[in-house]
Amino acid sequence: MDNKVTVDGLTFVPYLTRDEIATQVKRVAGEIREDLEGKSPLFLCVLNGAFMFAADLIREIGINDSRINFVRYASYEGTSSTGKIKEIMGLTEDIEGLDVVIVEDIVDTGLTASMMVADLKKRNPRSIMFATLLHKPESSKTGFKPDYVAFSIPPKFIIGYGLDLDGKVRNLKDIYVIKED
Ligand code: 5GP
Repeated sequence: MDNKVTVDGLTFVPYLTRDEIATQVKRVAGEIREDLEGKSPLFLCVLNGAFMFAADLIREIGINDSRINFVRYASYEGTSSTGKIKEIMGLTEDIEGLDVVIVEDIVDTGLTASMMVADLKKRNPRSIMFATLLHKPESSKTGFKPDYVAFSIPPKFIIGYGLDLDGKVRNLKDIYVIKED
């Protein structure tokens, strides 16, 4: 793990190592596997940020009867929320009667998550569960509570392991937090 990462003039310092991430991904995968026993779930990976978490999580859950699809929303520009949620790429697949597990990178205000769940509920799935790598409970503007959380974190801007700064640094294997002076 690098002792700092600089991108677009901002400095980030180590926050969660790849080993800590792997441990929590395993724990969450175990919880989901147990809850979904005997079911054929549909995992909905929320692009772009959740691609790395979803790849690790879904492999770790290991249900061969599961399916994977992708949705994409956006609410962020730079390091602060624009407060606007726009749907970029919706779901074309019929999810009626399915057990859906949304896989997200981070729940911040909860606006994206609550909008997504409300939107998907209209399509009559049998159940919807929400798994997130990171949750910032103190930033909540909606009271939204994810069903599965790998890490609860304070309201600081983080990058790496799929999470970006203006599209960059998603490749990092560890998670870094913005450095405060
Ligand atoms: P919410 O709608 O919960 O406020 O925001 C959810 C989205 O904001 C996430 O999917 C993610 O794209 C972005 N976001 C929120 N906090 C962070 C953060 O600390 N780092 C990065 N890179 N993105 C964040």
